[in-house]
Amino acid sequence: MTSPTSNETRDLVILGSGCAGLTAAIYAARSNLKPLVLEGHEPGGQLSITTLVENFPGWPDGVQGPELIENMKKQAQRFGAELRMAHLSGADLTSHPIQLQVGAETIHTRTVIIASGASARWLNLPSEQALIGHGVSSCATCDGFFASGKEIAVIGGGDSAMEEALFLTRFASKVTLINRTAKFRASPIMLERAKSHPNIKFLHSTIVEEVLGVEEKDVKGLRLKNTVSGDQFVLPVSFMFLGIGHIPNAQAFKGMMDLDEDGYIVAKDDVHCTLNGEILPGVFCAGDIKDRKYRQAITAAGSGCMAALEVERYLEAHGR
Ligand SMILES: Cc1cc2nc3c(=O)[nH]c(=O)nc-3n(C[C@H](O)[C@H](O)[C@H](O)COP(=O)(O)OP(=O)(O)OC[C@H]3O[C@@H](n4cnc5c(N)ncnc54)[C@H](O)[C@@H]3O)c2cc1C
Repeated sequence: MTSPTSNETRDLVILGSGCAGLTAAIYAARSNLKPLVLEGHEPGGQLSITTLVENFPGWPDGVQGPELIENMKKQAQRFGAELRMAHLSGADLTSHPIQLQVGAETIHTRTVIIASGASARWLNLPSEQALIGHGVSSCATCDGFFASGKEIAVIGGGDSAMEEALFLTRFASKVTLINRTAKFRASPIMLERAKSHPNIKFLHSTIVEEVLGVEEKDVKGLRLKNTVSGDQFVLPVSFMFLGIGHIPNAQAFKGMMDLDEDGYIVAKDDVHCTLNGEILPGVFCAGDIKDRKYRQAITAAGSGCMAALEVERYLEAHGR
């Protein structure tokens, strides 16, 4: 089995090597489409930066995120998927074949699945980055269970922070919501719901200066600063959840397809990318890049499967 050279036209290129891209690769490779997967700047996607995943079906004792991803990669490669450490730098999605720019190389392909994910917004403190997966998380649905019985903090002042805080009260004994300004951006109804919860405490005009516990590899507290008084103090918590939103990795496609106001791909029938409401032939999407609602490994994998099956149908309808 040989792979097409850069002059040849491929059947399928998949952008992204998270759960969505790799699941699409497994299905497409088993259909003999020899997909090329461009792994992007974060090979393995979001799960590669997490620790224990306890809600992916088939792993009764949980599985480490990087191990789950490694297994998906092996599974895709076993059937002939080609994985390449490369990042898409430009594209012409309306030409046929579709043209994808990777550095100086132009790749021609009949179809593309965009599975470039969404990156959580972080505070970008070194201590925070060091403790991701060890008490720092951007996903309440994923990691809330680990916070059972603990005092925790949620960072943010918008609807997603309120939603996370309310959800986390099911597990945590106390939730402190920390907002950098005096004004909360959340809608009045969400703000009221959070404010009236007895286990949620609010700290406004407060920034996180350091997450404590780097040496112990376990969050021990937050060093905070009141931006009005300048006072510094330590809040002893065992978990910090970020609730300051996500950035969909679709900036490269701005103007080429329909994106919503936050930059997520607007998908028709769940998998088709559109431009001005019309389906873009041969251009499909999967995973968090088009899913602002669920953002889970299993939903991303499921939509990767759907996109690959739609690619097969499309190619068959076009005489492949
Ligand atoms: C800390 C953390 C813990 C989590 N824990 C869980 C959990 O326990 N259970 C669960 O179900 N979910 C969990 N999630 C959510 C889960 O990881 C995501 O829902 C899932 O990874 C989404 O998969 P995806 O393939 O759509 O995108 P991603 O995993 O985000 O992957 C996107 C891929 O696209 C690539 N890419 C981006 N731009 C380009 C480009 N221009 N060209 C080529 N490639 C590109 C990236 O390199 C990456 O490989 C967690 C997330 C985080 C951040």
